[in-house]
Amino acid sequence: MLGTLRSTISPDIGLDLGTANTVVYERGAGVIVSEPSVVAYDTRTDEIVAIGHAAKEMEGRAPAYFSVVRPLRRGTISDFRAAQTLVARLVDRALATRPRLAPRLVASIPGCATDIECKAVEQAVRAAGARYTTYVPQAVAAAVGAGLDVTKLRAQMVVDIGGGTTEIAILGTAGVIRLASIQIGGDFFDAAIVRELRARRFAIGHLTAERLKIELGYAGGRPGNDAAFVNGVDLDAAAPRAREVSQAVVGEAMHDGIERILRGVRSVLETVPPDVAADLIESGITLTGGGALISGLASEIGGRTNVPTMIAPDPLTCVARGAGEILGSPTLLERLRPEADRFTRWYQSLRIGMRESYSP
Ligand code: ADP
Ligand code: MG
Repeated sequence: MLGTLRSTISPDIGLDLGTANTVVYERGAGVIVSEPSVVAYDTRTDEIVAIGHAAKEMEGRAPAYFSVVRPLRRGTISDFRAAQTLVARLVDRALATRPRLAPRLVASIPGCATDIECKAVEQAVRAAGARYTTYVPQAVAAAVGAGLDVTKLRAQMVVDIGGGTTEIAILGTAGVIRLASIQIGGDFFDAAIVRELRARRFAIGHLTAERLKIELGYAGGRPGNDAAFVNGVDLDAAAPRAREVSQAVVGEAMHDGIERILRGVRSVLETVPPDVAADLIESGITLTGGGALISGLASEIGGRTNVPTMIAPDPLTCVARGAGEILGSPTLLERLRPEADRFTRWYQSLRIGMRESYSP
């Protein structure tokens, strides 16, 4: 009762600053903002002209004097001003839904974020009028948002496949056991599909590649007979054309990225103590993030790691929901909040060990 009253006056907010999408969740109210993490500048005036959906639609078709950027590339903030504007505006929009006292907010950014990146997000959150509480790595927030009971004795594993990175966490009763980040996610698949079609003398944009991935993408097994028509440029005729793309072509393009994610998951599993491995055989791997929806991926990961793998309900919002829900439990907040210094350093070492690089 008191809790409800308190959250009406001063709500609890979870912020997921993802490489592809930024999601804001309010405890008790649900997801209130979800927009692509994209910012468009007018380079003549250096002003930000659009964020979110509006900016994403400009990608690939903006006038030359516009610069459309994704402030988070492969999990690190590559454009601080754009990232801060994105956070400030979206949090501001979320809070403007009704007038209330400054909310508490937990931010979730890719787990490999440096202290400077965390500080930049904190500043933006405060500028938007929220009381910044802490940050939690995305895979950890995802576990809570996926509904896992992270206070359980038995270890549990989450693989959060986003746009720029795949975030991995293994959680046990005392907190985080393993945390890792692989720089492979949906963007890698999109770029691979663009390349595959270019090799077949057909040029498409990234948004079209993303559509093909969502409609036809799959992991493991054999391709079905599905196909989709997409518009692009026939490079031999040097003219715009519509072309039919088969599922087999999309699957072939995605194969390498899927293998890299599998290698990453397996290399984390190889480092866990036997008791943790034994727990995981029972508790399984939970997939979150947009990549969790790739057809056949859960069974491919399950089959290749021998750890049962399932997709979380509503995988695209798990991180934001988890970040918000952590605020409802002092125990969770205590256990999952990183001890800034030690945690970050430890995390970094793992990340470097696993870095997979690619050029789109
Ligand atoms: P991030 O956390 O990095 O912001 P998200 O978890 O929001 O990323 O996931 C976005 C990524 O998931 C994008 O690359 C998008 O294309 C991809 N995605 C979304 N839905 C699907 C789907 N049904 N199948 C495959 N990929 C998907
Ligand atoms: Mg994410």
